[in-house]
Amino acid sequence: MYYINGEWHESDQKEQITNPATLEVIDTISVCGGEETKAAIASAKEAFKTWKKTTGNERSAYLFKTVKLMKERVDELAQIITLENGKPLPDAKREVLSAISYLDWYAEEAKRIYGEVLPASHQDKSLMVIKQPVGVCGAITPWNFPLSMITRKIAPALAAGCTIVLKPALQTPLSAIKVFECFHEAGLPKGVVNLVVGPAEEIGKALTSSPDVRKLTFTGSTFIGKKLVRDSADTMKKVSMELGGHAPYIVFDDADIDLAVEGVMLSKFKNSGQTCISTNRVYAHESIAKEFAEKLAKRTAELKIGDGLEEGTDVGPLINEKALETMKNQVADAVKNNAEVVAGGKVFNYDNGDGYFFEPTVLLNATDDMVIATEETFGPIAPVFTFESEEEIIEKANNTLYGLAAYCYTKDLGRGLRMMKELEFGIIGINDPAPIVIQAPFGGIKESGMGKEGGKFGLEEYLEEKFVSIYEN
Ligand code: ADP
Repeated sequence: MYYINGEWHESDQKEQITNPATLEVIDTISVCGGEETKAAIASAKEAFKTWKKTTGNERSAYLFKTVKLMKERVDELAQIITLENGKPLPDAKREVLSAISYLDWYAEEAKRIYGEVLPASHQDKSLMVIKQPVGVCGAITPWNFPLSMITRKIAPALAAGCTIVLKPALQTPLSAIKVFECFHEAGLPKGVVNLVVGPAEEIGKALTSSPDVRKLTFTGSTFIGKKLVRDSADTMKKVSMELGGHAPYIVFDDADIDLAVEGVMLSKFKNSGQTCISTNRVYAHESIAKEFAEKLAKRTAELKIGDGLEEGTDVGPLINEKALETMKNQVADAVKNNAEVVAGGKVFNYDNGDGYFFEPTVLLNATDDMVIATEETFGPIAPVFTFESEEEIIEKANNTLYGLAAYCYTKDLGRGLRMMKELEFGIIGINDPAPIVIQAPFGGIKESGMGKEGGKFGLEEYLEEKFVSIYEN
């Protein structure tokens, strides 16, 4: 099903959606392509003419209505996320609440878009800066947070007065369809939000090549992000790119070791490690490395792997076969280069089924020549490296093309502040494995992308500043 100009559409082209835990088909949906995407863009363009003139209060009311409808469906939405993505149900529920919180936040922000009056350099002139919506936006979202990545883009876009065409990942379109049902019921005017579900390249091309799409917002891999930026250059779109990462997780000798171990459990194994701010490289100071690694291996082995619908499951499946292959290859390469597997390390045969499960894994003796030292893992493998000095670890941590998130555990305030300044990443967690809140700017530097999502920062991405000079004659 796809949603264009306020109406749901079906087509003869069908796609099966499967549960990555069981490989069972959970739904069969209609998909669309480039032509329908062009129609969606045209409808968003038409809707923009009136939507951009609405007041912040009016847009806010629509967003609050959607919040109310989603709140009535929290359990249903969580169930859908678990079925199509695999994550444990309590985590899916947390995602739904987080998704709603973006709509709620931007329902408030819609009313608080201010311009500025500038001091003039001539006594007969008045100068001002007004903020206006960018226009029609294209949005492409991933499967790892199939619901919250959608509202994190649509909520600020609508609050700003933009209209939007959204393409969710083809692995997880069902939660997208549900949230669009809420937008529909909330009575959003025709064409303000449009949903196109189908082949990524074809839909992506329709979005990037259209001169009517004035902004492209994307969350996904750096590889695809670069392509989308290149393709958007011809029409000079504004772009926001939330791309891959390779987060270092640094544990100094003065850290609370138990706290640091628990932090890895969260940062590495939640969502089966399929989060762009997930820990990729654990660095333990050599004097505490043994104790830290033993505790980490013990806690990792305690994690319960299984179907996300089953109570007590800590770690669900990976999204597909390709992800499983990446895990196998990274472990094999690390072992070939003398890593020691102290927890997990293998494909997990859950319930004698075909699900894409991989055991939460801890590797010791990790070294820079291993593939895992540079390639994003996006799965439940924690390689443990060691280091000797602060100077050395700053250099190692920054030695990556990525710059999304970094973590540092220390009780020394001065050291924490130095790390805050020296680490070249957009998000830093100091003794905090979950540095993500709605009011904060979420986004990376270097090849992790550009632009921010969340808070007042996220709203600016959908606004344009217009300077007006008035001569009082
Ligand atoms: P992953 O490899 O983790 O699936 P991707 O970057 O491939 O990450 O996918 C993130 C989003 O980008 C998904 O919605 C996917 O369908 C979309 N996508 C993938 N390839 C393209 C493309 N060539 N053009 C536009 N969107 C794409």
